[in-house]
Amino acid sequence: MNCSVGIKISTDKISYIIMSETGRKVNFGEEKYLSNTSTTEFLELLQSILTPILETPEYKIIGVGVAVPALVENGTVIGAEEQIPALIDVDLKAYLKAKFPIPIYVENDCTAFALCENLYGDVAEISNVIFVNIDHGVGGALKINGELYSSHHNRSGELGHMIIHKGGAPCGCGAKGCLEAYVSVPAFLNHYSKKLEVASYSVDLQMFEKAYKNGDEAAIDTMNWHLEHLTLGLSNIENLLGPERIVITSPLSDIDKDYTTKLNLSVSETALPAIASKLEITKAKLGEDAISLGAALLAFL
Ligand SMILES: [Zn+2]
Repeated sequence: MNCSVGIKISTDKISYIIMSETGRKVNFGEEKYLSNTSTTEFLELLQSILTPILETPEYKIIGVGVAVPALVENGTVIGAEEQIPALIDVDLKAYLKAKFPIPIYVENDCTAFALCENLYGDVAEISNVIFVNIDHGVGGALKINGELYSSHHNRSGELGHMIIHKGGAPCGCGAKGCLEAYVSVPAFLNHYSKKLEVASYSVDLQMFEKAYKNGDEAAIDTMNWHLEHLTLGLSNIENLLGPERIVITSPLSDIDKDYTTKLNLSVSETALPAIASKLEITKAKLGEDAISLGAALLAFL
């Protein structure tokens, strides 16, 4: 059976999934890298992950899809300064094509997430959907009137850089007050560490989750603070585009089982009632695999 490889590039690791043409996860793994990794080292790491996979005949790999947390134009990574400095302006598609004699696809991670959820999730029949990925950064993808939306040169969906506070918290993009500066995972942990009066590097999501489930006051305050800001962003999106569904993937949404229940309530109270009454906010059906499966899916489209 033919398979493809889906690579998800994150700020500290490269994850991969080998997916069969029926959408089955055949194998998976990940490699960590350091934040000061050079472009050459990064590309060599990527090559070292792919080479043994492509040399395994049983997999019958027909293509490789790579999802990056940045804009992508014709296979070149744009705007990676904030998340993956090693990939700034790198023509990733050309590099991989020169190394491997099979089709290569490079796409924005949230677009890959949207492709996956649209095919394997439960939104195929819904015409207007916003996909939101909340991780180290905050990205978005739009399905409008049944079609995944792509603006000129594939530059759209940067929901994280919607400004929600004039002169607010500094964002990695250089602006102040962006949604991402309040609702990303680093912003979340930074807020939690301030509540605990400890250094931000000394807290992580596992520690947070334990405290939250134990009813710790600082943890509950942090989650409420996060949801308040996310409500502003999602309400603005809802008022502008009026989607019937907003699908969220995030490690934060897995910590609180009522994450989307709370958002459904708060957004319905914040956005224009006539628009928000048609909205449902849900978690991604494919969970954490949605981005890498979406990347693998690119080879079968
Ligand atoms: Zn920004």
